[in-house]
Amino acid sequence: MKIQIVRVELFKVSMALVREFETSSHRKGWIEHILVRATDSEGFVGWGESASPSDPYFCSENVDTCWLMLERYLVPALLGATWRTPIEAFGLAHINGNAFARAATDMACWDLYSRHLGQSMAEVLGGDAKTIEAGVSLGIEPTIDALLDVVAAYVNEGYRRVKLKIAPGWEAEPCRQVLRSFPGIALQVDGNGAFSPNDHRDTFSRLDKLGLTMIEQPFAADDLVAHAELQRRLSTPVCLDESVTSPAAARTALALDACRIVNVKVSRLGGLGPARAVHDICRAAGVPVWCGGMHEFGVGRAANLALASLPGFVFPSDVSGSDKYYERDIVSPPIIAKDGKVLVPRSVPGLGHEVVFGEVQRHLTGHATLSISQ
Ligand code: MG
Repeated sequence: MKIQIVRVELFKVSMALVREFETSSHRKGWIEHILVRATDSEGFVGWGESASPSDPYFCSENVDTCWLMLERYLVPALLGATWRTPIEAFGLAHINGNAFARAATDMACWDLYSRHLGQSMAEVLGGDAKTIEAGVSLGIEPTIDALLDVVAAYVNEGYRRVKLKIAPGWEAEPCRQVLRSFPGIALQVDGNGAFSPNDHRDTFSRLDKLGLTMIEQPFAADDLVAHAELQRRLSTPVCLDESVTSPAAARTALALDACRIVNVKVSRLGGLGPARAVHDICRAAGVPVWCGGMHEFGVGRAANLALASLPGFVFPSDVSGSDKYYERDIVSPPIIAKDGKVLVPRSVPGLGHEVVFGEVQRHLTGHATLSISQ
């Protein structure tokens, strides 16, 4: 089987969040992502999503850099070339970094490949779980009472894992209150690198006493040594997100014992191929992983769902129902959580959720077409 992509369309799509979301770096009320629609010489269509943040706070990319990389390098490298597997297709673009941009074309190639094989993406990736336990990620709220109201709503819907964003001044006390009000839930926290290893030593000693499932990315992405020192001091597992930018970075983090859990994100790693490689590295080392999200629309969310069906994903994922974030998603059927679980599509080739073109057009903020004849 040889696949040749002959036409690629880029769609910049902007959707309002149902509820504003605040992290340690900023507050956001809408999400703009890039969708990639790749058509091959046999008429198959594959979709991908670049879930880059709009501003370079989480990582160095933003929507504009992703658009530039896709239009100038990633799509031209694919157009007209023939490949047998998505891993081979990934190797066609010789660019450094720009993982969020790369993830979009990589995802479209996996979707095309799965459709050619007539198999679901989960099956092609090697995942066998039929459902994924979903967790919700909650932003920083104006008050602890407001936070408790939000947690109560999700717990009533069946969610059992709650992740709280933390920042200096909003850490141990909100966690303590949530655990007091909802003693049965699994609580984890995410600092998004906002803490300093020297200034916030006591903060982590306090958090360590709460029985949290994990403390995610407290320090800067490149400070693996500080994470290793913290992990030595704490009994709570440290989880790394922003630090794990590649399979090699995952190996380094594990060798340093800088974490005991890894958050595997398709976007941050540049696609499903490298994300699966990080899963495999962690699984071989006996380190559990979970699938983090970037407020993906239905395309990226479906890809996360397929990835999270692999056996090393033992903690609940960020792949909750789309309705938690968007009034109406761009895919059909919509991705929904029932009793805190999301079904992994297995009966349909590819992503298993088809893009509703009218919804894409309704929220369109940019469009470009590149084809083999150009
Ligand atoms: Mg994170």
